[in-house]
Amino acid sequence: EAPASTPPSDLSKGVENLVIIGSGPAGYTAAIYAARANLKPVVFEGYQVGGVPGGQLMTTTEVENFPGFPDGITGPDLMDRIRKQAERWGAELHQEDVEYVNVKSTPFVIRSSDREVKCHSLIIATGATAKRLRLPREDEFWSRGISACAICDGASPLFKGQVLAVVGGGDTATEEAVYLTKYACHVHLLVRRDQLRASKAMQDRVLNNPNITVHFNTEAVDVVSNTKGQMSGIQLKRIDTGEESVLEVKGLFYGIGHTPNSQLLQGQIELDNAGYILVEEGTAKTSVDGVFAAGDVQDHEWRQAVTAAGSGCVAALSVERYLVTND
Ligand code: FAD
Repeated sequence: EAPASTPPSDLSKGVENLVIIGSGPAGYTAAIYAARANLKPVVFEGYQVGGVPGGQLMTTTEVENFPGFPDGITGPDLMDRIRKQAERWGAELHQEDVEYVNVKSTPFVIRSSDREVKCHSLIIATGATAKRLRLPREDEFWSRGISACAICDGASPLFKGQVLAVVGGGDTATEEAVYLTKYACHVHLLVRRDQLRASKAMQDRVLNNPNITVHFNTEAVDVVSNTKGQMSGIQLKRIDTGEESVLEVKGLFYGIGHTPNSQLLQGQIELDNAGYILVEEGTAKTSVDGVFAAGDVQDHEWRQAVTAAGSGCVAALSVERYLVTND
């Protein structure tokens, strides 16, 4: 059901209709929908990821699974296009990190280093950050052998038909390992402990898969490269004996989890144990009226650009309806 009418603006009283925090696919998509609904959204893009707006996709090369780009598109190109689309419809973009949020009373207050904005509604689209091992050569091989997303990168020519490794012992790592067997010729799962933390079902799938070798008590110490500067293996260390060895692999996938960027809202809205924002199932509604969440900050399961964009759309349409209802 579409909103009854465009909500009247309170801008003359210095209160914005909507602030959006975040500039990934979720934030910009919300901005496109809200701007087209004439809500004049104010977007705090942030610069936490790589010092530029655009979110996690700014750190990758080819994106092959975003609809509409049959030949793929680079992450930065894709984000530049979505950003321009938001700008074209009149979203007000600020390349600033939000440092303070108060949603305990209305209007909500949002503050960056440069400005303070009051608003009737808020969309949090601050994303999540993949946890990293901080290997000495990690930055050198990030997106050139090291990845934090098997679904995104597993089918890439870099990894197809190769021997790969996954780090981690929980559900994420075991799911990644099983997923990668579709493309890799063999997958090694590197587990620091002497057992897996994953669900029993996932443990069985991994341990009974002839294409996966599990290495317990083992940690990755660094990347090893060949004379062409390509990843050729990983330096491993046994936790129990201290013994070091090199495992020949062409790719290393991190399955050690993500940290949702929800710190700003801690103590103000409901989060789950891992810090993900809790939304009412199938909606973008948080525990506070007028505050909505979209993208990876509320999604510990799918974490895809297209699902983030979809939830940004839902959040913006929900805001439109909320403002009409609460006028
Ligand atoms: P993000 O993209 O995480 O963006 C969040 C934004 O919020 C950032 O711009 C950040 O700076 C900003 N922010 C955070 N805190 C603040 C603050 N306090 N104030 C202001 N701004 C703030 N998905 C795919 O579908 N296909 C792929 O091929 C693919 N490849 C990937 C490759 C890599 C290397 C990575 C890391 C991820 C990949 N993903 C891929 C996953 C995809 O990037 C994410 O699912 C998607 O970006 C999530 O979008 P988002 O809008 O929720 O958040």
